[in-house]
Amino acid sequence: MNNEGLLIVISGPSGAGKGTICNNLVKKNKNIEISISATTRPPRRGEEDGKSYYFIGEKEFIDKIEQNEFLEWARVYGNYYGTLKKPVLEKLKEGKDVILEIDIQGAVQIKNKFPDGVFVFILPPSIEELKKRIETRATETKKEMIERISAAYDEIKKAFHYDYIVVNNCVEKATSKLQAIITAEKCKLSRNKHLLNIGGRF
Ligand code: 5GP
Repeated sequence: MNNEGLLIVISGPSGAGKGTICNNLVKKNKNIEISISATTRPPRRGEEDGKSYYFIGEKEFIDKIEQNEFLEWARVYGNYYGTLKKPVLEKLKEGKDVILEIDIQGAVQIKNKFPDGVFVFILPPSIEELKKRIETRATETKKEMIERISAAYDEIKKAFHYDYIVVNNCVEKATSKLQAIITAEKCKLSRNKHLLNIGGRF
């Protein structure tokens, strides 16, 4: 019987609202945890080490790559980001569902290693709305904002790697859609063959 949790990969352009949707989902669903990535990006105002990310230096990051400590890693906007293998595998084994909020390069690596994972791309309602969100969030410099807006076009073009698309017009609705995807995935025959084991359950 397979009691392992679901590995859920969430990607989308900066400003699509991935973080808000994931945090909202976790508040409503105690069995889901968000994986905390390691990054060489400096913390932004309000970000805490060990909560938003593990903020580490480039040497430490490269050591971890060499020690094979990452499930995936990538360079995004000039910084390294990576998912630590150990905590994710442990949580999945415990039966917890784990969300990886990562970029497309990372998602492709995960898809190769975990074809059973669930891959969801979050889209903003429009490019205009995306620009507005990035600008009003004001967590990046002007140069970074321009970089992220132009990267959004490339990222959206690559969304065909994913299984599901959720448009974030409204956080509550987008969260419900994500919850529905997870519920449906858990009911898939391929994840529940043990239930048809005649003589066992029936
Ligand atoms: P931010 O700097 O805005 O927190 O994140 C920038 C980008 O890096 C986002 O697209 C985010 O999803 C991605 N990212 C965050 N953590 C990881 C990770 O562990 N691996 C990969 N591949 N991308 C990540």
